[in-house]
Amino acid sequence: MLHLPTVISLSFILNLIIGLYFISIYKYKKQASFLYFGLACSTFTLAIVCASLRVLLNWPFITHYFASLFIIACPLFLIMGLKALSPLNKSIYKQVSCLLIVASVFLLVVYNTAAEQILVSLILAGLFLYASHIVLNTRFIAKIQQRMLLLCLLLHAIVMLIQGALLLLPFFTELSFNFASVLQITLAVHLILATSAALLLPFLVFANTEHTLNTLANRDPLTQLLNKRGLNAVANTLFSKISTEQPLSIIMVDIDFFKRVNDEYGHDAGDEAIKWVAQHIAALFSKSAVTSRVGGEEFAILLNHFTLNEAQCAANTLRKNIKNKPFSYYGNTIYLRISAGVACSDSQTNSFKSLLSAADKRLYIAKTTGRDKVICKSAQNPFISKKPVCT
Ligand code: GH3
Ligand code: MG
Ligand code: MG
Repeated sequence: MLHLPTVISLSFILNLIIGLYFISIYKYKKQASFLYFGLACSTFTLAIVCASLRVLLNWPFITHYFASLFIIACPLFLIMGLKALSPLNKSIYKQVSCLLIVASVFLLVVYNTAAEQILVSLILAGLFLYASHIVLNTRFIAKIQQRMLLLCLLLHAIVMLIQGALLLLPFFTELSFNFASVLQITLAVHLILATSAALLLPFLVFANTEHTLNTLANRDPLTQLLNKRGLNAVANTLFSKISTEQPLSIIMVDIDFFKRVNDEYGHDAGDEAIKWVAQHIAALFSKSAVTSRVGGEEFAILLNHFTLNEAQCAANTLRKNIKNKPFSYYGNTIYLRISAGVACSDSQTNSFKSLLSAADKRLYIAKTTGRDKVICKSAQNPFISKKPVCT
């Protein structure tokens, strides 16, 4: 079995280090979660100090009452930290304060008795179960680490439940057990949880932050499609894999006479119209393509493994979808049209930029030859059939 003073000393040192580590991250990142995680570890060290004084002092108000209060505050701070991670984070100060007040009143009655340990064990089990529930319902990008944290919390809740049940046993049966060994297991589990949390929590938070920053850098906030930067990043990867059998096609789309929408109905209506076209693009190409908004009312759609004919058919479907379904804005019916230029990689396409430029030129032809059309040939390439064969 583990040597109890060693486990206690280890728990103390580890929680002190981890607590300082979390607080130093908070100083750097100013993210409330890390402050709460740091406080959770600090209150645990205070609980250890108070409880350890039992061998020296006979002051149960400090060695039992305060030790129990600190130990309850530990998962409460953890819960506050987890809650603060959620973007929809609702303040739970009230609930936490109420629980602490109720616990402090009940503990006043039962501290330094067998009922104190039972009460604390059951409260801790409930709090760790609630923390598991929060972790389960928080959207973390790093899924494996999320499950590992969940496992740690559930394990802690189970150990607390077992501890509570074992402490209750003597009230109902003749059975007795060595409480020191239960304490060893409890502290060992806490060691595992504290160490795992120290490794997992910053990782989970940083992975989410990185994802948010990536989204901000690569997505257009109005339409949620990729922006030009995001498109370039994906396009260059796709372009490096093209071959004659597996070409890369691109459709450049521009809304026709869009200034009139702004002029007649206002800029907000214009924004909604852009969103509406983006929704049509996303709905039609959600699975088969990379969709992006590359300018004001300009979109680029990348179709991997699409031939020119297939891309032209897809562009025409989009054009007809938008033309046949008017956009409605506060009772106004607005008829939108789009023009598109389509290009497909071939043996002469040496970069994604040149593919984009070819599609752009064809879009310009569509604009200058009447709009509301799809063009897939440039003046230099007149041999491509005019009418696509769409299936
Ligand atoms: P064309 O058929 O030649 O494309 O005519 P157009 O009026 O659509 O001309 P163009 O594409 O050059 O004009 C785009 C207009 O889109 C200019 C600008 O006022 C408007 N615009 C650009 N970005 C936004 C935006 O984010 N929101 C709104 N509401 N309007 C935008
Ligand atoms: Mg336009
Ligand atoms: Mg434009």
